[in-house]
Amino acid sequence: MKMLIGGEWKTAASGGEMEVINPATWEKVGVVPQGGQDDVGAAVDAASEACSGWAALPPVERGKILFRTAALVREEVGRLAAMLVAEQGKPLREATDEVRGFAHVLEYYAGLSSSLYGESINTRLYGRIIVEKRPLGVCAGIIPWNMPVMIAGWKIGPALTAGNTMVLKPASTTPLTTLAIGDLFLKAGLPAGVLNIVTGPGETVGEALVTHPEVRKVSFTGEIGTGRHVAETAAQTMKHVSLELGGSDPMIVCDDADLEVAAAGAAAGRFYNCGQTCTAVKRVYVFSEVAERFRELLTEKTRAFTIGNGMEKRVRMGPLNNAAGLERIEAVVEDVRDEAEILTGGTRPEGKGFFYEPTLLAGLPADAPVLSEEVFGPVLPVVEVEDLDEAVEAANSTRYGLGASIWTKDLGRAERGCQDLEAGIVWVNQHIKVPPETPFGGVKWSGTGRENGVHALERYTEEKALLIRP
Ligand code: NAD
Repeated sequence: MKMLIGGEWKTAASGGEMEVINPATWEKVGVVPQGGQDDVGAAVDAASEACSGWAALPPVERGKILFRTAALVREEVGRLAAMLVAEQGKPLREATDEVRGFAHVLEYYAGLSSSLYGESINTRLYGRIIVEKRPLGVCAGIIPWNMPVMIAGWKIGPALTAGNTMVLKPASTTPLTTLAIGDLFLKAGLPAGVLNIVTGPGETVGEALVTHPEVRKVSFTGEIGTGRHVAETAAQTMKHVSLELGGSDPMIVCDDADLEVAAAGAAAGRFYNCGQTCTAVKRVYVFSEVAERFRELLTEKTRAFTIGNGMEKRVRMGPLNNAAGLERIEAVVEDVRDEAEILTGGTRPEGKGFFYEPTLLAGLPADAPVLSEEVFGPVLPVVEVEDLDEAVEAANSTRYGLGASIWTKDLGRAERGCQDLEAGIVWVNQHIKVPPETPFGGVKWSGTGRENGVHALERYTEEKALLIRP
């Protein structure tokens, strides 16, 4: 496949290429250009040229193009989902949900296209102030590999609806489905240059986008370390920056919770996407009165996860996406093997593919790194607590603040969780789901800014004040 620059499909200026492999089989599933600084320059030029025409279109016309793209994506969901399984590894059902979710996000923003209102303030003293919401210009979207299609939608949807143009950089291991969707945007009538997709490594393509003076906003999703570097670099050219970073979401299970439902929620919330979700359940704090029963139920549900190639119907968990991720998970488990109780899992199946068994840990010391750092794979620690005070304190004890959940039938406890858990999103009796209406992002080190909702649309505009004196 080639890169999308200025409405045309291009190879890299250097001629370089990168292979994409299937994480379940290690077979090559595609080859894409290894872009560099010149390709980013060409893409930003194309996006700059397209800016004024796209911003001048009636918003409802911009919305129609997004609606048409969403319809084409829905028509092609089978092909796109299979492509996503091949490059990312997740089970077909999850890939299908992700592709449909992308279409849903586009539809949501297309529906909002005529709703970007300004303001009017009559000062009487100095006349009337009109506040217009103007697009920012060229925006860069930098995407991780875990939910490559959905997260691209979270950036493209609001950016284009608000009248911006965009250069998107997919992660190196998952560029294929994004490029295929780029083609559907063109088929839906998106003018050349409004959306450009440049493939290549973060250190070159990502870096070139973040340093380019014509780029007015960087919307970054990825690890904290990369995010911090992106923020520092983008500050040199005064860009708007939004950072959607890592999480270590706690789940609190109170003694009055429906334990069957909570155990199913913990297993689904952790092992979805092989544990590689920013808002996965990453730590469970369960009241000691019900801890034994909860562990039994969770162990039973975890053992029911069949792992394998995501294209096989019976499979509920695919491989990790890449070798580095698998090595990190193996190291996390080895680190605690002697002190923790491994309730199930803890090994890597033999053979090809970056597979690791869904793993439950108990009996960990309070200072175990697995309880304070983000673990991006299928490993879930379960910790006993005496009461809600202890649970909330432990839940808030990390530098992360993306999501958190509390499982209880008691409204007072639910309210306490909503108020006191330090997170951008708190779920009650559920975890992980983020519909497009939800403003989504973290507090503390989990990032700045919000995606989704009308809130993201606002963040792709800036106010221009007009003072009019008759
Ligand atoms: P990563 O930081 O390694 O890479 C993310 C993207 O940044 C990739 O496209 C990469 O090529 C690019 N990149 C790398 N170096 C760069 C540089 N110097 N300049 C610009 N771009 C650069 O993250 P990852 O491993 O792909 O993703 C996993 C992480 O993403 C996890 O921490 C996860 O929690 C986080 N995440 C957060 C959210 C959220 O919304 N908060 C959503 C999904 C994933």
